[in-house]
Amino acid sequence: MRYTQRRCADKRMYAPTGPVMTTQKKLLLDQLYEPYRHCTACPLGNLGRTQVVFGEGSLDAKIMFIGEGPGQQEDEQGRPFVGRSGKLLNRVLETAGLKRADVYIANIVKCRPPNNRKPFPNESKTCKQLLLLKQIGIIKPQVICTLGAAALEGLLEQPIKITQVRGRPIELGKITIIPTYHPAYILRNAKELPQLLGDILLAIQKTK
Ligand code: SF4
Repeated sequence: MRYTQRRCADKRMYAPTGPVMTTQKKLLLDQLYEPYRHCTACPLGNLGRTQVVFGEGSLDAKIMFIGEGPGQQEDEQGRPFVGRSGKLLNRVLETAGLKRADVYIANIVKCRPPNNRKPFPNESKTCKQLLLLKQIGIIKPQVICTLGAAALEGLLEQPIKITQVRGRPIELGKITIIPTYHPAYILRNAKELPQLLGDILLAIQKTK
């Protein structure tokens, strides 16, 4: 893939700046989340969401998974990837030798889009700049696994075809992005499960 100038500028935001202790990371994340617990900075804040779903997982995760946005169960429970897609992701992680607690999981937008529609570009961009880039900056993963086209589009702010980029690493500063399928897609297309597993194994390999 060719990098746009904007993406090159984003490298600074993704670049790790030095060691930060886990407790400091927790403090930094708490400080980050607090002002946004009732966020209405983009339209999704006023379209029926129950709560803001920031993300969860290991604060020292080498791999961060980024999905599109919370679904109904995520919105109800305040946790990312807890529905059928999340259960599939958990199983694939275990098959790859990882526990869910080993990674950090978040979404491009932190509020559920109505009827599970794809987030609009202005919503993704606003939430990314307010929260996601700062989450990445605090957690400092070595690898980001984007789940589905919308997650990668939201991160890079450009349209992509997931079938063309899936499994092909994208270097962004000191972080490697591994685009892969969304588990919801795998639930509808089980024959693609080996691709998802292979991409996660590649992500693990990139952390070594
Ligand atoms: S999606 Fe993000 S920016 Fe939009 S209201 Fe929710 S927390 Fe705020």
